[in-house]
Amino acid sequence: MAGKRNVIVDYGLCEANAVCMGVNPEIFHVDDDDHLTILKPDVTADTEEDIDQAVRRCPRQALSIVEVDAPD
Ligand code: SF4
Repeated sequence: MAGKRNVIVDYGLCEANAVCMGVNPEIFHVDDDDHLTILKPDVTADTEEDIDQAVRRCPRQALSIVEVDAPD
């Protein structure tokens, strides 16, 4: 399937302030050690709106959406 997109984080920029988790904690999780895990990196019809919002609101601009090549 072509055109698959994922949200990724640049850990060099992320300061774990959890703004993204505030948008949707089912997609973004910051743990007690200030480490962000992206639980649902796939951009889907269900997650697209929240992921877009998190990308826009991240104060460090650490999140971005990339095209990924899915194997056939
Ligand atoms: S909002 Fe940005 S800086 Fe904050 S935890 Fe999420 S990715 Fe990191």
